[in-house]
Amino acid sequence: MPNRRDVIKAGALALGGGLLAWPARAAGPVHRMKLGSFEITIVSDGTFPLPLSFLLPDRDPAEINALLATNNTATTTLPPAQTNVVVVRTPRDLVLIDTGGGARFLDTLGRLASNLEGAGFPPEAFTHVVLTHGHPDHLWGTIDDFDEPRFAKARHVISAAEHDFWRNPDTVNTMPEAFKGLAAGSRRILGKLDSLITRLPADGTITEGLTAISTPGHTPGHVSVMIASGTERLLVGGDVLGNPIFSFQRPDWHWGSDVDAPAGARTRARLLDTLTTDRIRLSSYHLPWPGLGRVERAGNAWRFVPD
Ligand SMILES: [Zn+2]
Repeated sequence: MPNRRDVIKAGALALGGGLLAWPARAAGPVHRMKLGSFEITIVSDGTFPLPLSFLLPDRDPAEINALLATNNTATTTLPPAQTNVVVVRTPRDLVLIDTGGGARFLDTLGRLASNLEGAGFPPEAFTHVVLTHGHPDHLWGTIDDFDEPRFAKARHVISAAEHDFWRNPDTVNTMPEAFKGLAAGSRRILGKLDSLITRLPADGTITEGLTAISTPGHTPGHVSVMIASGTERLLVGGDVLGNPIFSFQRPDWHWGSDVDAPAGARTRARLLDTLTTDRIRLSSYHLPWPGLGRVERAGNAWRFVPD
């Protein structure tokens, strides 16, 4: 088990020290479903290790292990985090929600481009790319191996608050040392996309059937995406609910990768309440493949019920 210092190296998240090969248990990189008249396809960008010491740095390990034990989960290492990228085909548009880590972030990521091609989605077919936020495992796949925009015909939609945060030259200086390289990279890549960017208010229509919902905390301008067709709805939650146990059963626990941890906790509780009250299905980026399921109330908290 690597410690936090091993895990986070200045300039890049060299997660886990050694990089894992694609795990044999991955169910496969493409999952298809219908949502009203829309076609939803989940495509993987790969997996990467997210150690507990990184996710929950302030939490007593005994408390973490006790919660894992009540869920019959091994207490030593968590399974690798998935990258469940969502493609939405509407009668009018082809929308990609988040873009994976690209070629320059982690060796175990960067599979999205070939997996999209394999699933019948060449890059020029996309009309919209929606970015839930500016972290590398969501943003850096917008750039191809030649350092040019990969989805060159798509409008790239990001919230104005998120765009301002990463483009601000001062942001690098406000980040912890370990995140400075990531911040510089995301600032540079958003600059490369400049002519394709559409800045959105926190809550706003992306295109017919897709609406951005402000879910700040993980990053200042993080958005989730509500997809609605007919009477069916699916909420794409980005990184608001990053772990199938902690995020649902202890949404109040502060998350190591949240820029504003108290705001992240408030947003988690609010979103979980909405998902259960309105019975909305969830798609979540880092949950076990393919990251689809429902949320149920459980005592004072919630629980994730995978499809
Ligand atoms: Zn992420």
